Amino acid sequence: MLTIGCHLSSAKGYAAMAKEAEKINANTFQFFTRNPRGGKAKAIDPKDVEKFHEEAGRLGIQKILAHAPYTLNACSPDEKVREFAYNTMADDLKRMEYTPGNCYNFHPGSHVKQGAEKGIELIAELLNNILRPEQSTTVLLETMAGKGSEIGRNFQELREILDRVELQDKMGVCLDTCHIYDGGYDIVNDLDGVLKEFDQVIGLSRLKAVHLNDSMYGLNSHKDRHAKIGEGKIGKEAMIRIVSHPALKNLPFYLETPNDLEGYGAEIAFLRSVWKES
Ligand code: FE
Ligand code: FE
Ligand code: ZN
Repeated sequence: MLTIGCHLSSAKGYAAMAKEAEKINANTFQFFTRNPRGGKAKAIDPKDVEKFHEEAGRLGIQKILAHAPYTLNACSPDEKVREFAYNTMADDLKRMEYTPGNCYNFHPGSHVKQGAEKGIELIAELLNNILRPEQSTTVLLETMAGKGSEIGRNFQELREILDRVELQDKMGVCLDTCHIYDGGYDIVNDLDGVLKEFDQVIGLSRLKAVHLNDSMYGLNSHKDRHAKIGEGKIGKEAMIRIVSHPALKNLPFYLETPNDLEGYGAEIAFLRSVWKES
């Protein structure tokens, strides 16, 4: 079965997200661990988590994906900003243990004139301070569009971060289709070639999740503007090839398209209709 869901609001807790997922025939979902702009997280209610696990069992939800606030910058030149990223991520990972065995995705960060090399070092340093042998969560680096001084603009930069992390088995990658297309990887005309390159540089075994988004702008545009499935420059046919590709089809897919719940439901219905078992 295709594992697919969308980004949902975590404001009402885990059980409420499972209910919303059910409404749109999703069997996974993504959520922000706290206000996406940062700030303090709401305390986790163990009763809500218990209810969630019941609902998840009933609905066949096996994996969910937490997303760190996108304002965090693990490689900021400002030590205070890096400290904030550290504190937030360390707290998030503690909270993740209420729902063990899932993934936690974050944007590697922006080096802001320090250069990519320095940025990569700082991100790896932060990860080495945060990761614990006993944690059950896999931390994912997201492939980025390469806006401004973003790290993760190509597969090599993610590889270089991974190479510097000590607890390798706690790390993975989340591939965002809009971002890599923006970053110059032609998934429309050469999906096989792009995945082959991913495999050579990072290794497909590291790929744990896909953000499925169309892109408002073209190849190499570095804009990071998501579009609805089939309404952007990537297009419907390429989207069908992506969810059906043998190297991807059993991964969880997360829509981050500009939609309300009903719109997400329609996209999920469409993608389920084109996805084939073998
Ligand atoms: Fe993201
Ligand atoms: Fe994304
Ligand atoms: Zn994006």
